[in-house]
Amino acid sequence: MRREDFPILNEKVHGRALVYLDNAATSQKPQVVLDAITEAYSHWNANVHRGVHHLSQVATQKHEEARVKVARLIHAHSSEEIIFTKGTTDSLNMLARSFGDAMVKEGDEIIVSQLEHHSNIVPWQMLCERKGAVLKVIPLQEDLSLDIEVFKELLSEKTRLVSVAHVSNVLGIVNPVEEIIRLAHEKDIAVCVDGAQSVPHLVVDVQQLDCDFLVMSAHKMYGPTGLGVLYGKKEWLDKLPPAEGGGEMIEHVRFEKTTYNVLPYKFEAGTPNYVGSYAFGKAIDYLQEIGLEQIAEHEYALAEYIEEALSKIEQVHVYAAGRKKAGAVSFNVYRADGALIHPFDVGVLLDRQGVAVRTGHHCAEPLIDYLGVPGTVRASVGLYNTKEDIDTFVAALKKAIMMLE
Ligand code: PMP
Repeated sequence: MRREDFPILNEKVHGRALVYLDNAATSQKPQVVLDAITEAYSHWNANVHRGVHHLSQVATQKHEEARVKVARLIHAHSSEEIIFTKGTTDSLNMLARSFGDAMVKEGDEIIVSQLEHHSNIVPWQMLCERKGAVLKVIPLQEDLSLDIEVFKELLSEKTRLVSVAHVSNVLGIVNPVEEIIRLAHEKDIAVCVDGAQSVPHLVVDVQQLDCDFLVMSAHKMYGPTGLGVLYGKKEWLDKLPPAEGGGEMIEHVRFEKTTYNVLPYKFEAGTPNYVGSYAFGKAIDYLQEIGLEQIAEHEYALAEYIEEALSKIEQVHVYAAGRKKAGAVSFNVYRADGALIHPFDVGVLLDRQGVAVRTGHHCAEPLIDYLGVPGTVRASVGLYNTKEDIDTFVAALKKAIMMLE
């Protein structure tokens, strides 16, 4: 699927053709996105929102058009609900600060799950420390799915917010966020969906999900790094205070009292990444041109193909085996005597053969601790990966296992 649009895929690594299977960490960029960045700085770079001059108006228009594209991509009710941030981590920190300041008091509870990325744990822990609140954790069942029965018991009048990953960045499995949202809403509890790994791989509709907040990163979806989104329902964003102060986010500043700008600007202090948003808009156009459903199908099929191939290698253990995976497959390799081969060693030997995978805790230490291993090897696909890539990866893995056994 359109490999030729991605110049970096022609690179050689250690003299081998690059097989890039680290898309869950970040995706590569198509030429249209690279061109957009050059175009912006070459032709219309100017600070947005406050200029009467031509270039500033062009830059503002392009930045705001990108916001509309994001709103359409995730089916937000309006582009006022799209706040540009630096990325998923920034969005979650902003939400923890804003929501936490306004809504959380001593003794209140926030719920996350055992398989969250550190970005969806630490900001909530910091909030709990600031406020004397308590972090509760949805445990996992044997098949690594979230224990919804325990989740139901965790929901109480003390719960202020539930924040869960839509797709696990380690296991690739899709969590039942619709059910989580429905159960939380029955008790008037707000839900934030960490969409960092879902928006790139699934068709996400925030109105259908009915989530109160959703966070995502542009760099994981063929867009530039340093840009992300915090989606929030307008009712919430109207009610919540800004997390950061500065230019852009104000209406009037007086030493006696400052009043804040309208949505979404209230949450966007300082000069925004308007070159990034423009390039992200181009990435969204590109994805929609190919078709989000087609991309999702392609990636599901590739993940299945990986799992099938790995399940034929005796020494390999695949996590959450048999469950549908949105792009990422995690595994470990064991010697005949049952000893684990360190994932780092596997990763290095794959790299020497031109295959890029990620090894380690994947910023999800509580999950890795639960699995009882030092880390995993994770192969994760993007729209440009092919079955041939997977065949090369599997052949390289077999060679690595022979060398490490
Ligand atoms: N949540 C999940 C599920 C992720 O996969 C990631 C990125 N690995 C993040 C949050 C953090 O995203 P970023 O580093 O782009 O802020």
